[in-house]
Amino acid sequence: MIFALLFAELLVFAIYSQLEPENLARRLSLSAIITCVVSFPIGFYIQRQKQQLIALSKKLAITASTDQLSGLLNRASYLHSVEEKLTTPKSGPTAGCFLFIDIDHFKKLNDRFGHAVGDSAIRKVAKIISQHVDEDLGAGRLGGEEFGLFLPNANKKKAISVAENIRRKVRKLSFHDEKGELRLSVSIGCTMHMAGQSLTQLVSAADHCMYQAKQNGRNQIVFGPELATEEQVSAPNVHQQTA
Ligand code: GH3
Ligand code: MG
Ligand code: MG
Repeated sequence: MIFALLFAELLVFAIYSQLEPENLARRLSLSAIITCVVSFPIGFYIQRQKQQLIALSKKLAITASTDQLSGLLNRASYLHSVEEKLTTPKSGPTAGCFLFIDIDHFKKLNDRFGHAVGDSAIRKVAKIISQHVDEDLGAGRLGGEEFGLFLPNANKKKAISVAENIRRKVRKLSFHDEKGELRLSVSIGCTMHMAGQSLTQLVSAADHCMYQAKQNGRNQIVFGPELATEEQVSAPNVHQQTA
């Protein structure tokens, strides 16, 4: 508004100092009043539009990065955030641990109880996982019934304890029908980030551990990268189910 006022005054001055110098003061005050009256509502309107545009673009960014069903970050957005953590200079020897979480026999749940119950199971598992997230990082839904959770600066003990908490809480989720009860469980592959390891290598190592947990009977945690050697594959670091 100040710029509009200055501009109008300059224009009036340039024109009327030549044409009617005797009326210059009157013309200047008149143009100041008109400029104020006109530019105030226009400025207000533009400001409001600008605020709405900022709010809308924030909402759009959140929608684009969120998985609508689980409320967690979607795969692309989550892995991008984890990658940023991996490339940030760290205080300790490792950037942290990655958990690859997969619901066991999820297809059976869908087939027996229907897709809507399957969806609600995904939401419940996501809620349990989100109780363990790092504030600024969150957790991600990597695919259908698969989730990723990166624990910045976590050592092996901490990572296994978080994974075990999640495993136990999920085990308490149950669904009932005339055939009886179906209890949910997850298999968790857990791996520690090593210097120089890329995001793809980290996720695939955790995925590999998760697959090992499936092969060992599901509802359990397998910690890597011990799985890298053959000897360790035959004796993986498995945390068997307790319930
Ligand atoms: P496993 O223990 O080996 O992981 O077996 P699984 O049945 O969990 O795995 P599988 O890959 O055979 O099946 C995954 C199922 O998840 C199949 C697919 O229909 C279902 N699914 C994927 N996305 C969704 C979703 O958004 N909602 C629901 N309800 N089901 C989904
Ligand atoms: Mg799966
Ligand atoms: Mg599964």
